[in-house]
Amino acid sequence: MGANVDDRRAPIRQDGLDLRNHDRVLVFAPHPDDESIASGGLLQIARSVGAAVRVVVLTDGDNNPWPQRWVEKRWRIGNAERARWGARRREEARAAMSILGVAQHDTSFLGLPDLGLTELLMRADAQVIESLRGHIDEFKPSLLVLPALSDRHPDHSATHIFSRLALGQCKASMPQLLPFAVHGKTPGESLISVGLSAAQRDIKQAAILAHASQMQLSQRRFLRYAANVESYLLVPPQPVANPHHPLQAGVDRQGVLHVRIDLKNCGSLRSQDLFCAIESADAGSLRWQVPLDLRSTQTEVRLTAGAVGAAATWRRERGNVTVSLISPGLAGLRQGYAKLARAQPGWRVFDRFGWQPVVRS
Ligand SMILES: [Zn+2]
Repeated sequence: MGANVDDRRAPIRQDGLDLRNHDRVLVFAPHPDDESIASGGLLQIARSVGAAVRVVVLTDGDNNPWPQRWVEKRWRIGNAERARWGARRREEARAAMSILGVAQHDTSFLGLPDLGLTELLMRADAQVIESLRGHIDEFKPSLLVLPALSDRHPDHSATHIFSRLALGQCKASMPQLLPFAVHGKTPGESLISVGLSAAQRDIKQAAILAHASQMQLSQRRFLRYAANVESYLLVPPQPVANPHHPLQAGVDRQGVLHVRIDLKNCGSLRSQDLFCAIESADAGSLRWQVPLDLRSTQTEVRLTAGAVGAAATWRRERGNVTVSLISPGLAGLRQGYAKLARAQPGWRVFDRFGWQPVVRS
């Protein structure tokens, strides 16, 4: 608890991932381009050993106004322009995957709202979970490549949680998880490295360049991913709390959720809400959003999904704020996640930190 986020422990690197022809690699990519920048090497290696691959792209990346303004030299972007941009990005992803050796029939596009996955998560959207569960149960992956829970892009971290919720409903056996952190890393996370040959790096670079709409503004940043190793987080099958995260969230024996916020490491709480996504054996999916207006000792809890609300209090002590949520839905905690994020994201896309699992304390 309260570990210093600046304590940048050297990551533990474990080299190699021994892929075999019986392996089945499923990639959940939040946006067109993530499949290439995050796993363009792994997909090639999987194909080269005869392993089966499937890539599911959740959004079309159509809510992407700055590159679109730059490329199309237009300011106003309405629905038609946005749909055209999404179609273009889908085609770019198809071209990239063909460069990586992934066949058209091994790719799926879900067309979910770009920059809207957290909202769907906070509405406990059952269709997204069902769609991901369907892909897992049908494909039966031995390896599931997915964004990291700690990724600062809200679509990425929400994809991780949706994947966890889908896995919780699957009949297929639990695959090895290979989370990728594209937008920021949390200290203390261990890495597994996949080595790429020079030829594989060249092909990965070509796949990244196929996302031409993203190259005008981000080419140098994107091409840095075509390095001699591709890194994934080394995680156990069940989510575990990262002691370096500025939030620590636990449900105690009385069924009260305490979220301790390390103020030194998370900055101002102004305009920040505490987001809670709880799966309860008794009460089903519960989603709460807690505005952190700390001028009062009580704070309102907004129920965004589910039938069971919560009451929240908070207290400040030695550089921490602890928000305590009381709800009958917490006794049956099966999975839970908490994060701080802006109530109204506006034009600023990124969170300061990703989500932290809620544990039993
Ligand atoms: Zn992305």
